[in-house]
Amino acid sequence: MDQRTIMEELKVRISGADAVLVGLGLEWNGKDHREAVREAYEKLAGLLEGKDYFVLTVCTDGEIFSSSLDSEKITAPCGNQHWYQCPDACTKDIWEEGEAPGGVCPHCGKVLIPNTVEAEHYIEEGYLPSWGRYTTWLSRTLNRNLEVLELGAGFHGLELKLVRWPLEKTVFFNKKAHMYRINGAFSQISAELEGKAEPVAQNSVEFVRKLC
Ligand SMILES: [Zn+2]
Repeated sequence: MDQRTIMEELKVRISGADAVLVGLGLEWNGKDHREAVREAYEKLAGLLEGKDYFVLTVCTDGEIFSSSLDSEKITAPCGNQHWYQCPDACTKDIWEEGEAPGGVCPHCGKVLIPNTVEAEHYIEEGYLPSWGRYTTWLSRTLNRNLEVLELGAGFHGLELKLVRWPLEKTVFFNKKAHMYRINGAFSQISAELEGKAEPVAQNSVEFVRKLC
């Protein structure tokens, strides 16, 4: 199938779906190609407009929260570089950029660090409310026509654990689910998902950017 046909089919599937689950892997980490990623988020927001959707991302650059996607429908379990926490986790408070005077913990005085999985004492309270919304949403998709877009999630530990495996499982157990796995290097589909999943061997940011 040529790329245009794949894109057209994908759009038809999205428009016919009751719910759309998007899982974003590290191809969406905006550090090296921020403009491309921003454009791709806007295309994704356009594609999902009016749909019942949820986005799960392992990226920590926080770029997605500045996009037109509904921040109530995003969960970022690996954290967000623009949120801050105490390095010792002496408090579970999370601050937004510039919110804590002097950039130090008001309780112990230590310099705050980004609230991401990189932190030695990662405070999960930053993402848990959105994670709760996500799991509730996901449980409601069980017998519905669910389209899954897995975009750029490879085999890095957290991509595998938070995106690839759970999404495969979701598609496997929901008889009405279908999935696209779009990935520049790792688009292969396991045998159990044959007929329910479409591999697209292309960088997912580039693919989404070209969606018109
Ligand atoms: Zn502290």
